[in-house]
Parts: sequence; C-alpha cells; structure tokens
Amino acid sequence: MAIDKKIKEKVEKLRDKLNFHNYRYYVLNDPVISDTDYDILMKELIELENKYPELITTTSPTQRIGEELTGGFPTVSHSVPMLSLDNTYSEDELREFDKRIAKNLISEEYEYIVELKFDGFAVSLEYRDSEFIRGSTRGNGTVGDEVTKNLKTINAVPLRLISKDSKLKDIEVRGEVFMSRPVFEKLNKEREKNGNPLFANPRNAAAGSIKNIDPHIVAQRKLDIFIHTVVEPHPFINHLDAMENLKNAGFKVTPVLEVAKDIEDVIDVCKKWQSRRNTLEYGVDGMVVKINNFEQHKRLGATIKSPRWAFAYKFPAEQAVSKIIDILLSVGRTGTITPIAVLEPVQLSGTTVSRSTLHNQDEIKRKDIRIGDYVIVEKGGEVIPKVVKVVEEKRTGKEKKFRMPHKCPVCGSDLVQSEEEVAVRCINRSCPAQVKGSIQHFASRSAMDIEGLGYVLVDQLVENGLVKSFTDIYQLKLEDLVNLERMGVKSSENLLTAIEKSKDRGLSMFIFALGIRYVGIKAAKILSSEFKSMDNLMKASFEDLESVEEIGPIMAESIVNFFRNEVNKKMISDLNKSGVKMQLLKKNKGKISLLGKNFVLTGVLMDFTREEAKETIESLGGKVTSSVSSKTDYVVVGENPGSKFDKAKILGVKTINEEEFKKML
Ligand SMILES: [Zn+2]
Repeated sequence: MAIDKKIKEKVEKLRDKLNFHNYRYYVLNDPVISDTDYDILMKELIELENKYPELITTTSPTQRIGEELTGGFPTVSHSVPMLSLDNTYSEDELREFDKRIAKNLISEEYEYIVELKFDGFAVSLEYRDSEFIRGSTRGNGTVGDEVTKNLKTINAVPLRLISKDSKLKDIEVRGEVFMSRPVFEKLNKEREKNGNPLFANPRNAAAGSIKNIDPHIVAQRKLDIFIHTVVEPHPFINHLDAMENLKNAGFKVTPVLEVAKDIEDVIDVCKKWQSRRNTLEYGVDGMVVKINNFEQHKRLGATIKSPRWAFAYKFPAEQAVSKIIDILLSVGRTGTITPIAVLEPVQLSGTTVSRSTLHNQDEIKRKDIRIGDYVIVEKGGEVIPKVVKVVEEKRTGKEKKFRMPHKCPVCGSDLVQSEEEVAVRCINRSCPAQVKGSIQHFASRSAMDIEGLGYVLVDQLVENGLVKSFTDIYQLKLEDLVNLERMGVKSSENLLTAIEKSKDRGLSMFIFALGIRYVGIKAAKILSSEFKSMDNLMKASFEDLESVEEIGPIMAESIVNFFRNEVNKKMISDLNKSGVKMQLLKKNKGKISLLGKNFVLTGVLMDFTREEAKETIESLGGKVTSSVSSKTDYVVVGENPGSKFDKAKILGVKTINEEEFKKML
C-alpha cells in the first residue's frame, strides 16, 4: 500500500525543521524555539515513523542512537591521508616555518589563518547527497575505524546538511571530537562514585567514548565536535571561505579563525590565546597556523608525515606558584602512607588545584619540600598536578621540615617501614582506611566487579558499621541499604543483584580481589590456573608456590602469610558459605588459546596500558616481542601506530585492532 504523498511531505518537513532547530541549538548556540516545542516536533515525527516505519531513514533525527555494534569496527581507507602536523613550542621555529613558506612561494603574497588546536580526537565525516553516510577515526592516517554510529550521537554532527547548495552535497570534512571540561568533570565524578577507573583527561575520555561499541554509552558521554578541515576535491578558494560555507551548511566549525598577515602577527595571536586558554570550556593545547589559499596548499604539498602549509604551535605545560599550607597523610588499601600537599588554591589549566601528591618521604627529601614553602605546580593534560620544585628565593626561614609521624593518622597504630621499600605503612588490617580501600578494591571492575559499589557507598557502609569485611557485603539486605543517604529502592535492588552476580566471577578474579600484597591481575591468573581451587592454593607451601614459574620468593611469602592468618581463613570459608565460587571455571579455555603465539604491540590502546596488554597476553600463554619479524603472529594496532605497523604490512603479518584483540581474549 503506497503511503499518501502528503504524509511523506509532512515527515520531510518535520525533519527539516528538527535539523534546523538542532543546528540553532548545538551549532550556533542560539535556539529560536523552546525545548518543549522541539520535543513536540520530535514526538510528532516519532509517531509518524512508528505508524509508517517504511519512511524511516538512517539519517532521520530520530535515529541518532543506533544499535550496539557486534564484531568491532570495520576499517575505512582515507581517500586523502589524515596527516599529523609538524609542531613546536618555540617562536623561532615558527619563524623558520615562515622562511620555508616564503622560499617556496617565491615573492608571492600569502596570508595565514590561525586557529585553536583542540586536545581531542581526530575524525573524518563523509556526506553523499547531503546525507551523513560515514565517519571514521584517524587510525594510522591511512586506515581508520568506521565509527559512523557513534558520531551520529553527537548532536553537532549534521545528519543532513541544511543548506541546499549543490556544491556541498558530496563533501568530506575533518574535525576534532572533544569532551567539554564540565562534562568531563561530571563523568569522572560519576565514575569515581561507581568504582570505575577515572579518565586521565578529556582527550582520553573522548577517545575512549568514540571507540565504545555501544552507541547508547557514547550518547551519554555528550561529546562535541569542531570541524576544521575540508578534504579535496572541493569548490572553495581559501580556508576562510570554506569554513564560512561549512558553517552555513550546518557544521560546527572551529570557533577561532584569525587572519594574520605575517609571522609576527601569527605569534601575537598565539600568545593571546595562550593567555586565554583557560577561559575556554574545552581543552586547547596550542594553535594551528595554516596558509589561507588552497591553490598555495597544492603547490606547497606535503611530506609523507605532514603538510608543508600548516604548522602547530604548542602551549607549554602550565605552571603556577602556590604555597604549601600543610602536608597530610593518606592511607591506602594496603596501608601505604602517601603524603599529600595541601596547597593554597590556585588556577591551573582551567581547574582549581588545591592538592598534589608528594609520593613518599624520599621524594619530599629529594626536592627539599617544607611546609610553608612556595612551590611551582605543573599540570599537563592530566588530572593530577605535580610539585615541580621549591621557589627557594621565597623562603623566609619559617618553613617547617616535614617529619613522617610514627602513628597511623586514621587508626593510631604504629607505622612500619620495611627495609626493601621507601613507603611507610600502617599494618593494622582493621584500620578503617584500609578496610574502605580493600573493599573498594574487592568491588572494582578487575576484581569482583560489583557495579554501583563505588567509594561513596563504601564509605557509607563502613561508617554505618554495615560492612567491616568482604563477608559482610554478602550479608547486606534491602532494608540495610534503602535507609542510606542517596539510596532508593531501585538502586538498592540493583546493588543486591550486582553483589549476587559477583559470586560467579571465578577463581582468578577472586584471588585478585583478596588484595594479597604483590598479587596483581597477572599473578592471580597464574595462581588460578596452577592451583585450580582456593583449597589447593591455601594448602600450598612456600616451596610449592615458589616452584611456579613467575612467582618469586617475596610473593610466595606474602601468599603463605596471608593464608596462615586465622582471620583470613575464616573470611574465605564464610565467603564460600555465602556462595562465592572458588574453583577454576571449566569454560576458561582461553588459557591455551594464545599458547605459542607471538605478538607485537604498536600505537596507543584505549582500554589497556602497554604493560597490561603484555601481561594479559602472557598470562594466556602468548609472547610479546618488541619488533616485527616473520615469526610474529599478530600485530595489535592502536591509535597512532609506529613503523611496526608498516613493517607488518610489508611482511604480510596479520594486524588486528583493539576490538579484535579484545575479542580474541
Ligand atoms: Zn591505620
């Protein structure tokens, strides 16, 4: 049955309206209707599409959030490589860059456009017939991952261009996906509360989000985008003209485009924005300087690595001077005492800094940091600032040297320092600080993975006397939880379900969750596959343990001591009675799946550090080597891979991306 033409027209009209208002709101930041009116239009479209599902198109405004991807991201070859820019911290090198331009353009006139350099994640967007058809990551510059579904969740990405200019209908543009600072801070707070690992900076958060396989999660991350490049072929004569046209077509283009007549002008603009960088809501780590004229771009060309017509000036890491008001001690889950500098609040990289870790007393001695000292604090793109050095000229003689106390600041027990380590520790296992820390560790993602049991809740549970040990977690009842602050019935039920699920995590996660000193994820896996049950592990002697490859004497001793302790023995037997599984799971065939396989890692992985990836491969029987050879079975390719990737291609070695790697595990 054909659908009435009028209905088709109505649907199209609604889509045009919604696209326009979306553009006013997310791109121009200047809405012309209320949110309610927008919602009414959207609802009307949804109703029509529900009634006539054959009218739904992939670029309808109702289709921003799609289904989860199965099998990872397909790859995309970039028609024009996504090169990186040459960059510098020095003004003189900018002048050198200008000299090279002048030499190549022999007595021609030229001008520069100076724009912000976003600390984000580079992507490419392709349009056919004015519709957004494909989006991809930079990858290695030649081949990236297809992330169309995730990019569609970004409201500032037009699904259909709003201008009817036919010159623009088949265009490819490039830009930077980023997360604004307020969104980033909120996200990290949320993650901390839920016991998830924190993102180090907004760039990692944006990158990690765009590479998430579930568009629902990406949509929650509230990413944004600035478009800064148009890919050849295109109809524009210069960059400024291109950006103007893209903006009118519906793109959120880079907000600063300053024309500079010569290199001294360029440097002035860079300096100006360097001093203003913290007034911006998003991370900017420098400025990009481009020749305006596209004809000149063509003549200047590019090296293999980067275009000759553009250059990046990077801002130095930000520093500020602040005063150390006090040095406090924080007690970690294993009792380690970490000195923390309390600083006079100071603005740094757009956030207020009032604390910085001093690591340990040797670090304090080495830098001769005293209470009352003025110090230089530095913060790169990272969340945690560091004390660089003391400003000695500002000393008055009233500064106090720091002395490590002899008692734990939380429980008052004696502090102990063993010979082989720098850190001082509290050895009272029932010290509240350690109880909280060890429960957080127990519930964390790599351990028992109890979703919702983050630090805020752990604090409440311990303070209210509901949880004193791991065992108590499994005794929690709905009535215990609903009375806690900020806990409703729904969240309490969810938590109880998560606790129930955690019983089946398996032996190796359980061993890791116990928090035995020196026993990390990798050692827990080895112990689990070697001993196969908690019973066997508890009976193991020092010699049994030490004879296992990769278990050294220090770890073996620590394990024996842990299980010799009566309190620990009882705890494990109680956990067993509560139903926590303590056997090696049969289905864990993965153990042998990588046996004899040789891996090489290149580029940055999003969900693993290099060390973690290596440990994981090794724990499954594989080997990691540093260079690619004909013996290599797989090259795991992350973002911005190095020459190993090229070598793998030459030798015909199989390359896999992070998603494929994770699937393999
Ligand atoms: Zn203590």
